[in-house]
Amino acid sequence: MDPSELDTLRQQLDNKGWQLRFPKALEEEFQRDYAQRYRTHLQLAMLLGCLALLACGVVDPFWQAPVAGTLWTIRLIVIAPMLGLLLLSRTSLGERHMQLFASLGGCLAVGGLVGLSVSSLEPFNHYYSSAITLVMLVVFVLSRMQFVWGLAAAIIMLLTLNVGLLGFSSASFMLLVINNFVLMASAVFSLVGTFLIERSLRQNYLQSRLLAFQNTDLEESNLRLQYLTAIDGLTQIANRRSLDGNLSTEWQRAMRKREPIGIVMIDVDHFKLFNDTYGHQAGDECLRGVAGALKDFARRPGDLAARYGGEEFVLVLTNATAQQAQLVAERVRDKIVELAIPHQRSSHGNVTASFGVASVVPGAQHSGPEALLLAADQALYRAKESGRNRVIVATVGSESQAVA
Ligand code: GH3
Ligand code: MG
Ligand code: MG
Repeated sequence: MDPSELDTLRQQLDNKGWQLRFPKALEEEFQRDYAQRYRTHLQLAMLLGCLALLACGVVDPFWQAPVAGTLWTIRLIVIAPMLGLLLLSRTSLGERHMQLFASLGGCLAVGGLVGLSVSSLEPFNHYYSSAITLVMLVVFVLSRMQFVWGLAAAIIMLLTLNVGLLGFSSASFMLLVINNFVLMASAVFSLVGTFLIERSLRQNYLQSRLLAFQNTDLEESNLRLQYLTAIDGLTQIANRRSLDGNLSTEWQRAMRKREPIGIVMIDVDHFKLFNDTYGHQAGDECLRGVAGALKDFARRPGDLAARYGGEEFVLVLTNATAQQAQLVAERVRDKIVELAIPHQRSSHGNVTASFGVASVVPGAQHSGPEALLLAADQALYRAKESGRNRVIVATVGSESQAVA
């Protein structure tokens, strides 16, 4: 998480002013999000505008037949670019300039109505001029036009109305005043609505961003916590807790599949002497080396290399018979010897480890994986007794009844 972005979000949320603009980067993201979210609103508003313009043209041939042709020409002149905008709004250009499209669409609709009004016969001209108010509300609120664009559109609409009335009609002064007043009043109300809607949408956006940030933060903390509870801090391999969890899962799986599960228990030889000779820090380094070597042998899904405690490790090998687990243990033993960590008080001159191996196909007669661990531990004990740096496999009947 970028803390400066978080600060910006918080500052903007605290800002209770009337500003409808975020700092550049945030504003760009907001506009992108806004366009994606409300593009369909804009398209719906434009479609409704076109349909309304077309629908009210149905009555013209009956009400004002002499000018019906002119009125339909005006309609088509307005609807054609509106449909163009509608199609363009589906492209990435439309997404980037959604506000411009909304304003253009609104101005076209109002311009069309002014044109229809000044070309209509009395009293039908009033029908079109009063429709301007309705169109304005629809355009401003339904298309989710932002305040600044709404303001620009309202000014253009007002100019269009006056150019139409003054230039193309013989409207009386009073009619001019009334039309201007109605348009301005509806513009003010629409703009207040636009302003309030935009403001709360901006606040919502900030809050949702902040929430997304906090969620990511929480997820990261959770992952970190999961990692900390599962991983041994010194060696960075699985800890005892993970081992217990993994072993019981794999035990169940092996039972279902009737497959063997192998365990290799490892204990570093004469580690106390190593610590006494080279110091505790060197001892830690040695444990890290052994864990690193061990890790590479947990290859299949479900396999696990874990620190059992102190200088003892466990390797869980899924679908491994005692012979297969023994082979792996021999390779780990070689690998530890290859590490060539000097140990002058060991008869080998280097750090070595002893291994106890056990494997079983879990069945209903077994209470759980504990007996398997115990068998491997007892085999390890025998490896120690018989000279260390060796692998001993648990045998049926001696180490554990459960072990094959
Ligand atoms: P053996 O060959 O019979 O296993 O002898 P050993 O000396 O390895 O076994 P012992 O159980 O007597 O000693 C284990 C030592 O491991 C004692 C303890 O101080 C050391 N040890 C346990 N955990 C750590 C650790 O995290 N870091 C270090 N440096 N030493 C540890
Ligand atoms: Mg030990
Ligand atoms: Mg030891």
